[in-house]
Amino acid sequence: MTILIRNGIIVDTEPEPVVIGPADVRIEDGKIAEVGPGLADVPGGEVIDASGRIVLPGFVDTHRHTWQAGLRAIEPDMTFGRYFQRVLRELAPAYRPDDIYACNLAGALECLDAGITTLVDWSHMRPTRERTDAAVRALRDSGVRAVFGYCLGDSPQDLASEGRRVFDEHFGTAGGLVSMMIAALGPEIAGAEHVLDEWRLARDLGLPVTAHLGGGSPESATEGLDFLRVNGLLETPTMFVHANHYDDDQFKLIAETGGGVSVTPVDEMTLGVGYPVTGRARAAGAPVSLGADTVTCGPGDMFSLMRAAFTLERGRPDGAGRDFSTKDALRVATIEGARVAGLGDVTGSLRPGKQADLVLLRTDTLGMAAAHDPIGAVVLNADTSAVDTVLVAGRVVKRDGRLLHHDVAAVLASLAETAQAVTVGAVTAVSA
Ligand SMILES: [Zn+2]
Repeated sequence: MTILIRNGIIVDTEPEPVVIGPADVRIEDGKIAEVGPGLADVPGGEVIDASGRIVLPGFVDTHRHTWQAGLRAIEPDMTFGRYFQRVLRELAPAYRPDDIYACNLAGALECLDAGITTLVDWSHMRPTRERTDAAVRALRDSGVRAVFGYCLGDSPQDLASEGRRVFDEHFGTAGGLVSMMIAALGPEIAGAEHVLDEWRLARDLGLPVTAHLGGGSPESATEGLDFLRVNGLLETPTMFVHANHYDDDQFKLIAETGGGVSVTPVDEMTLGVGYPVTGRARAAGAPVSLGADTVTCGPGDMFSLMRAAFTLERGRPDGAGRDFSTKDALRVATIEGARVAGLGDVTGSLRPGKQADLVLLRTDTLGMAAAHDPIGAVVLNADTSAVDTVLVAGRVVKRDGRLLHHDVAAVLASLAETAQAVTVGAVTAVSA
């Protein structure tokens, strides 16, 4: 199966973001085969005319609680304490498995619609067997490339056996677009025994870990990182989500031990978690990526996140971020994101052999026209309405501005039902 993307404004990201100019991309069996100008026609292959389109690797969102899609803008002016109480304590328990499915499907399709082709779903919605299975099923049904961040949280189930069941049933030999990570509560949230169990499970299953780390306070950041170091847990590839309160030496340790950072710039600022560490972590050698985290009080698209990261880094109070460029912003949204997600050899750039996860952005709109510097236009000007065509592993999932393979009206209807049910359910549960 061959697809030829013809005559696009090609932007690659590896080793550094670069505009290749008018050129073609040939896709064979879901993988990028060749990039360059004037590629030969392939008899019987499909041709996608990309004239006037910027063609770039799909975005990678490394941290999103996808189950919150039905809670969008529920309390947009929250602080972190309120988020914790309202969203995690009151609303999360009201979800039925069908609600998890509806939200994960809608949230994953929201990503595809916006050009995010890879999603790390940090799934901490009080898992039961049924909820977990519904979450994974929705990701698989959506067609997005996803890493399912399995979190047992404070559920009474046995972490080792339930974690292995999830792995065996959904991931062991399944292959495909969805893989698994252990979403650990980590040492700043859970007790020592539980944390050791989380990292043991990751090691036993050969999986990386993603955890909210370094976002509490300088003291808890230091204590948590020391705990990981002293117990030998940094040997497991770990994604540090937020990481706001580490100092430069701590970022060096994270980088040296193969860790990566997920910055969620909007809610880190609005919820008061801490100042985003995009530049400081990169300066220490750690790959940095971006995440939407929560749509309860923030945007769900990568354009908003790139702009937030770009402006916050350029405007860093210590003045050290002035050189952070639009190319850097695109890098963290694509190739570095892929690395942080453990998929650096799979996606995030147009390198031949990688999966054909691609986005075509229109430039023939009032908001994008002229677009002198295509990378600048992607980072500073584009929004979701520019997303024309999206491919995941060479499969076209959006074409001419319309999502394929799903009845979007039905997805939205079931999301609306869920949004109603979980908020009413939470009110009842709280007053009971
Ligand atoms: Zn989070």
